[in-house]
Amino acid sequence: MSEREIQYVTDAVRTGWNANYRGYLERFEAAFAKHVGVRYAITTTSGTAALHLAVLALGLGPGDEVIVPDQTFVACANAVRYTGATPVMADVLPNTWCLDPASVHKRMTPRTRAIMPVYHYGTPPPMDELLAIAREHDLFVIEDACPAAGVTINGRHAGSLGAVGCFSFQGAKIMVTGEGGMLVTDDAQLAQRARYFSSHAKDPNRSFWHPEVGYMYRMSNPQAALGLAQLERLEEFVAAKRRIFGWYRDRLGGISGLRLNAEPAGTRANYWMNSIILNHPFRVSRDELMQQLHDRKVDTRPFFYPITALPMYRRAINPVSYHLGANGMNLPSGVLLTEEAVDYVARQVRDILVGS
Ligand SMILES: *Cc1c(COP(=O)(O)O)cnc(C)c1O
Repeated sequence: MSEREIQYVTDAVRTGWNANYRGYLERFEAAFAKHVGVRYAITTTSGTAALHLAVLALGLGPGDEVIVPDQTFVACANAVRYTGATPVMADVLPNTWCLDPASVHKRMTPRTRAIMPVYHYGTPPPMDELLAIAREHDLFVIEDACPAAGVTINGRHAGSLGAVGCFSFQGAKIMVTGEGGMLVTDDAQLAQRARYFSSHAKDPNRSFWHPEVGYMYRMSNPQAALGLAQLERLEEFVAAKRRIFGWYRDRLGGISGLRLNAEPAGTRANYWMNSIILNHPFRVSRDELMQQLHDRKVDTRPFFYPITALPMYRRAINPVSYHLGANGMNLPSGVLLTEEAVDYVARQVRDILVGS
């Protein structure tokens, strides 16, 4: 947080009422659409809400299947399930941890209507291949770009490549509004439907008339003020994350059997979460490494349990997702980390795993 955020939020609190009650929402949406390179951007209460609106606005529901990666946050499957559609979990690639096109092929059925590639921890999925599959089989692509502000593929921003893209500004993401999200699209009708469902499906021409069940997914103006200030600083955050990843790579990149975040050719990752995978048996397991790091005052997080490991989605096992879920972890990644702090973390990781 900088003076810019304080100034914008203070201004929103002082002036954001009466005719100006949406002033910062409009500025944030316009600036975000421009940044991503799309025609429409719609603020939401969360990334999950944006994903739910995306599935709804595409008209998907009971009987439809949406392919989502097994190794991701539960929001992806839940957003599909909220509409009555069925999430079908496909496996991920071992290097980028993102949706595997070959596994997508295997999970396709006559009911498949959409695929949801995820920018896992800020790494781009193989969008060229996934878009080709979608074109060939007439599927919608819903980009879960929740952690991917600032990520590009061949110069195009994450979220602008499919039918619709979703972002999160939850407090741990690369840019934040406390809680919050954004849906982006080039499709005017889809944008209009998403905005409609985000505001209790209200009839724009008739006060308090709601022809169907909608949702209350609107962001507030002071949050948008915070978001606008954060967006104006996004390049600063991406640069910090990339610098921090470089420090980790220099110190941990040489350990055999240890894999760090990938950055496929032609893309720019944002290294939202600097992560490691223990790809062969070390002296300790992932969980023991996390415990010992905790004892040495280093905070970490495990990778996600695969979606199909959770009780409500139990199904066929996707081996790479399970391997990552059991052996992957996130290292400290905040933009204010110093090289000394990263050096300390990396020395502890090395010491615990292989001895100094
Ligand atoms: C953060 C995140 C979400 C959910 O965003 P919320 O704003 O917390 O709802 C969904 N998918 C992915 C991949 C995320 O990283």
